[in-house]
Amino acid sequence: MLKKVVIFLGYSCNNYCIFCIEHDKRHIKDKTFSEIVKEIYLAKKQNVDVLEFIGGEITIRDDFIDLIKFTKKIGIKDIVCVTNGRMFTNLDFAISAVKAGLTTIIFSVHGHCSQVHDQLTNVNGSFSQLINGIYNLKKIGFKNINANTTVVKQNMIFLPEIAKLYVKLKIKNVEYIFVDPTYGGAHNNFHEIVPKISEASKWMKEALFIGRKNNYYQWYVRYVPLCLFKGYTSQVSELQEIRLFHTQHWASDFNNFDVSSSRKLFARKKTNKCKNCILYDKCEGLWKFYIEKYGDSELIPVLKK
Ligand code: SF4
Repeated sequence: MLKKVVIFLGYSCNNYCIFCIEHDKRHIKDKTFSEIVKEIYLAKKQNVDVLEFIGGEITIRDDFIDLIKFTKKIGIKDIVCVTNGRMFTNLDFAISAVKAGLTTIIFSVHGHCSQVHDQLTNVNGSFSQLINGIYNLKKIGFKNINANTTVVKQNMIFLPEIAKLYVKLKIKNVEYIFVDPTYGGAHNNFHEIVPKISEASKWMKEALFIGRKNNYYQWYVRYVPLCLFKGYTSQVSELQEIRLFHTQHWASDFNNFDVSSSRKLFARKKTNKCKNCILYDKCEGLWKFYIEKYGDSELIPVLKK
């Protein structure tokens, strides 16, 4: 199993996504360069296989390139960054980031066009900068371009269009993430943002189907109950992840040394309805806060024949 550490550099961001889980944390001070360097050393000492940097938006830090260079210098091979992509619209920046040692970039794409994406990020022009950024990386021959889409009420019906955009951009690794309402924007404005899972699942499956038609089997869905994804459970992230990675999260306001287990224990839940379901042991159920708001009536337990 691979060891993965996700270092949260801080919560500053140049976007204002309405569903952002870090929505209420933007006042927390970003980590300093030396604090991060210490954590990178610690990760190296623990022999991590994958080091992922996440924010907020990490590319807006003045020391972003230096942090990547340092990580590469001390011998961590797989260096991943999660980004809204806007900074990569600057070709020089894209070249520097790749030269510094980034090995994988995960872009957050929440719409197939400016109208949908920018409405969610609350920044006009964020979509065109993101798409320019992806093309810049392609131009310089960078291969490991991945993407994720947070699924909310405002974009779920466009998931097939977003999937077609991913096909056009030839993005082989994609995650469609059912929005997490435990904290932040989707918690505070639950009914405006969080769709019913029974509706969202139809669009999510349609997006996966478009991927399959184009031979993209590394497209996944995340944070979903398995019973609504019959025929697609091989593409549920959590089931893959548990086999491949042991993941830790290191942030300034919390540490989580076993991300999968704590999510199962504290944030997600199966209900009485699930008791006889044959998928019970594999499944994480629904977000607890989702059950508080919408209940569990959409679940369809899979029973032994
Ligand atoms: S009924 Fe419950 S345990 Fe079974 S797949 Fe659905 S959410 Fe998971």
